[in-house]
Amino acid sequence: MKHRQTISLQPYQLTSSLISTSTFWSLEDVSWMQQALSLAKQGAAREEVPVGAILVYNQQIIGQGFNEPIGRHDATAHAEIVALRDACMRLSNYRLPLQTTLYVTLEPCTMCIGALIHARVDRLIYAASEPRAGMVGSQMNLATQPFYNHSIQVHQGLCGEHSSQMLKGFFRQRRQALKNNKR
Ligand SMILES: [Zn+2]
Repeated sequence: MKHRQTISLQPYQLTSSLISTSTFWSLEDVSWMQQALSLAKQGAAREEVPVGAILVYNQQIIGQGFNEPIGRHDATAHAEIVALRDACMRLSNYRLPLQTTLYVTLEPCTMCIGALIHARVDRLIYAASEPRAGMVGSQMNLATQPFYNHSIQVHQGLCGEHSSQMLKGFFRQRRQALKNNKR
């Protein structure tokens, strides 16, 4: 029997005992998250807060996006929503296939976890935690509430340090630019 290839990475941060932090990710998981990180980087190049998301079904990308509320003039244009809309447009269906996985570089907010529940995403893997307003472990865990008719399996911490450094670097540069403009 062929063993599933695994790679060992350091978990980023354990925020809740309800959320599993796996130290063994498959090579595919790592590769999808790296693609989500490169989408986040595209966002940063457009001066958007760098968050990227990829929706995967059957080992194929069915939707992708990065956080782009400024460029799209749309408060709802978070990476997760952009990726969901991309997939639904491509599939010409408001329903996603069963067993889709969303890879996102930052813990989802209230709006995004709501949208992921409506879309019936099966699995959510996120990189960095969002301690201030994360709704999948940091402030609350909306992914597995009994009052919804769908729950999402959540894994956190894959490439968490990488994503966290990208976000910190982005905000550092932005503060510096603001300071320079005031001079
Ligand atoms: Zn969001």
